Amino acid sequence: MKDIVQQILREAFEELDRANSDIKAIDKVRVKYLGRKGRLTELFKQLGGLPKEKRPEIGKVLNEAREQLEKALGDAIARAKTASLEVSGDFDITIPGRRPLVGRLHPITQTARDICQIFVQMGFEVVEGPEVELDYYNFEALNIPKDHPARDMQDTFYVSEEVVLRTHTSPIQVRVMEARKPPIQIIAPGKAYRCDSDMTHTPMFHQVEGLMVGKDVSFADLKGVLTLFVHQMFGPHVGVRFRPSFFPFTEPSAEVDIQCVICGGKGCRVCSYTGWLEILGSGMVDPAVFEMVGYDPEQVTGFAFGMGIERIAMLRWGIDDLRLFFDNDVRFLDQFF
Ligand SMILES: [Zn+2]
Repeated sequence: MKDIVQQILREAFEELDRANSDIKAIDKVRVKYLGRKGRLTELFKQLGGLPKEKRPEIGKVLNEAREQLEKALGDAIARAKTASLEVSGDFDITIPGRRPLVGRLHPITQTARDICQIFVQMGFEVVEGPEVELDYYNFEALNIPKDHPARDMQDTFYVSEEVVLRTHTSPIQVRVMEARKPPIQIIAPGKAYRCDSDMTHTPMFHQVEGLMVGKDVSFADLKGVLTLFVHQMFGPHVGVRFRPSFFPFTEPSAEVDIQCVICGGKGCRVCSYTGWLEILGSGMVDPAVFEMVGYDPEQVTGFAFGMGIERIAMLRWGIDDLRLFFDNDVRFLDQFF
């Protein structure tokens, strides 16, 4: 009897080994040996048929065998559960996924593109020019003589005597006119640099420059194009006014104001209680500029304009601090899409 018990136990352990980490196979082993009709269980049933004096000894052997097998089965199940966790790692498929961060365009880039798009629809072509610019293109060719205040060292970053970081996008006009014959209709976005830093100024900022040159281009065209731009950018009911101004490279010149987008023209802190906000400078190209690029001012006329992209973006979204654009705080940038 003892030998039979040992043999059954040996077979049970072998089958348990083969079951490995398969919980169902482990359970089959349990049923086969310890179930109601299990092989060990059957032996317990035979105890009653044994001679009285043999029963305690065989009973002890059987009980020990059952305890051993139960312990082995318990260990095998625990091992199998650990193994199944290891295979899957800590991966709980019921936990909601983490959304990957999606990049978007910076509000300045978005605004620059939207501005350009409006002009492209009116037949303008997008062009670009160098940010490190010759003094000639940045000043001289734009009718800004050597003694002009805009040339003051405090305003301009000089790389050398003849080379500057462009202080506006206007030199692109000159480069395009030098390279092409009229008619010209261009829009030129880009970075500009001035040695200036406070609440409303940053050393680097963005501008968009526009130029239209051809036969009989008039101030009426300037007004029409820029009014259409304002209505596309800020809405069809926003008031526009043209206010006489001065720029060295245009004559006559006009600054363009729009009705305050914050208060609707009633007057508020943003518009200094005037109801109007200046958004861009413009004018008819000065004949002196045409002469510099070899155009005959008697044959062609044209208008030019320039605006700060940060300014447009601030008005469009009601942002009151210029520096937010350059802090690159994701919580701020996340709001624009
Ligand atoms: Zn206002």
